[in-house]
Amino acid sequence: MTLAARIHAAKDLRIEAIALREPEADEVVVALGAGGICGSDLSYYGKGRVGDFSLREPMVLGHEVAGTVTRVGRDVTSVRPGDRVAVDPSRPCLSCDYCRAGRSNLCRNMRFFGSAAIFPHVQGGFSETFLARADQCVPIPDSMPMRVAACGEPLAVALHGIRRAGELLGRHVLIAGAGPIGLLCLMAAKLAGARRIVCTDLADAPLAIAREIGAAETVNVASEPERLAAYEADKGTFDVALEATGAPAALASLFRVVRPGGRVVQLGMMPPGDVPVNLLMAREIDFVGAFRFHEEYRTAVALLAAGRIDVAPILSAELPMSRADEAFALAADRARAIKVHLAF
Ligand SMILES: [Zn+2]
Ligand SMILES: [Zn+2]
Repeated sequence: MTLAARIHAAKDLRIEAIALREPEADEVVVALGAGGICGSDLSYYGKGRVGDFSLREPMVLGHEVAGTVTRVGRDVTSVRPGDRVAVDPSRPCLSCDYCRAGRSNLCRNMRFFGSAAIFPHVQGGFSETFLARADQCVPIPDSMPMRVAACGEPLAVALHGIRRAGELLGRHVLIAGAGPIGLLCLMAAKLAGARRIVCTDLADAPLAIAREIGAAETVNVASEPERLAAYEADKGTFDVALEATGAPAALASLFRVVRPGGRVVQLGMMPPGDVPVNLLMAREIDFVGAFRFHEEYRTAVALLAAGRIDVAPILSAELPMSRADEAFALAADRARAIKVHLAF
């Protein structure tokens, strides 16, 4: 048995003992070092669902995790007990057409930690100990704090979005949303050589952090929408826009400020809603999807380990699992927190 933070329904998160089966030959047992609370965890916590995926049974939350290997299956050679690891929450089948084509983030049989996308649900990593396949585990240096390693997952999402954005060297980039993913996209876009990056949000506090990280300009689209509208002149300004809010109104505004031939990358998950598709058509804007990541995960961990990406500005707090409710409330409060971590 192991203690885990399991969501039963909206606002019903219980820390309870759950059974942990024996590791398969290619699996390891990991003791949680730190787990970051993601927007999807907050959505399961607040609404009992994420997008179209509703909870149908209790599920352990958490997919931004790092920890220490405690046991290994019979065939495992890549890690040993005692190794500190960042754990990629993606567990693709490795055999379907997408996996074989090197796009395992689109795997037909994906098992992603803490996701109700399939039933039975895939249990997450907010668990004192949890199982992972050995190839999900990326060793990290002793000097790397667990919660920095736990940022490997959201950084991988951002890096994949940046990759889907195409060449950024010298480009003008707009990032809608200054939550963890938007801010990590800002760091990654800087690293990719973007010339000027503008960030938008509805809240001032995360925009202040965006400026600290290096946004040339930030726009609060709630209090000063005219400053974004100014970029609509001459058929739009930005070469690339990254949508990291999941709000239809934000997406609609992007089609107005991206120049013809520009590209919009959708990272946020949208509710059903209307988008100005005719602008997309008439401007031949490339509107590309970005779903999770694959080898970017290892790149993310390497960038964090080497200090080339510094996540310190977004690390808001770390709370013990016994105060999980408080942690979720804090994580949902955009005036006070960007990224909140849990630990046992
Ligand atoms: Zn996440
Ligand atoms: Zn597959």
